[in-house]
Amino acid sequence: MRNTLFAALIVCMCAGPASADPSRPIVDAHIHYSHDTWEVLPPPEAVAVLRQAGVKKAFVSSSSDDGTQMLYKAAPDLIVPVLRPYRVRGEIGTWVRDPSIVAHVEGRLKVNTYAGIGEFHVFGADADLPVMRRLVEFAKERKIFLHAHSDADAVERIFRQDPAARVLWAHSGFDQPDNVRAMLAKHKMLWADLAYRNDYAPGGRLDATWKQLFIDFSDRFMVGTDTPSPERWYYVVEHANISRKWLAELPADAADNIGFRNAERLAAWALGQ
Ligand SMILES: [Zn+2]
Repeated sequence: MRNTLFAALIVCMCAGPASADPSRPIVDAHIHYSHDTWEVLPPPEAVAVLRQAGVKKAFVSSSSDDGTQMLYKAAPDLIVPVLRPYRVRGEIGTWVRDPSIVAHVEGRLKVNTYAGIGEFHVFGADADLPVMRRLVEFAKERKIFLHAHSDADAVERIFRQDPAARVLWAHSGFDQPDNVRAMLAKHKMLWADLAYRNDYAPGGRLDATWKQLFIDFSDRFMVGTDTPSPERWYYVVEHANISRKWLAELPADAADNIGFRNAERLAAWALGQ
């Protein structure tokens, strides 16, 4: 009798359309730990936030990269280091025309381990400028991915430079679902993170168009908080919980892929694991 009741309860809990699985691991594919954050949230506390969120791994890139290195040292099992090319945050708008970035990135790549280069910001024809071309070459040489905050045009240019590149498209380009679908269909080595947008799940429930897109391309999406400022770190735990909630609306396999497996696979490929 007790067993029957227990079984009925489990069925009931699992069958609910939006019953978030509190145990579903999350890989947060879009975390920054920049200088103004590490001043107020030291590495052990930042690691504690990620663990509290049930984050299995976090893709971390920072202005400067010293933030990523500090966090990686504090929790190598948790942090997937990604090399942001900016030495300070102010370089977001200038880096792509600054040749000194190339030596900076090359120097870091020589001494540290990275799964990718990014998140960098580049749009349209700027993706064909020499500094960006060098980043694409570095990623190719080292077999690591590029995390691009870009429009579709810049992503296309990156793939023209290296058709075998692996690109993680930050914020899915803030693009419309139909355009994201077209890009994913065209480029097999393109992944898309869902950071800093909530149009796919307004009010915590999946939008029907996005839901179909997630089902059709469940092997390409990743979740991410995006923490460009210290305040956003307060959102990491909530982001993981909200993600678990809408992921539960998807078939379990698709939810696991988007929640953590796609990011795990890309990191494992890049880190040769
Ligand atoms: Zn970002």
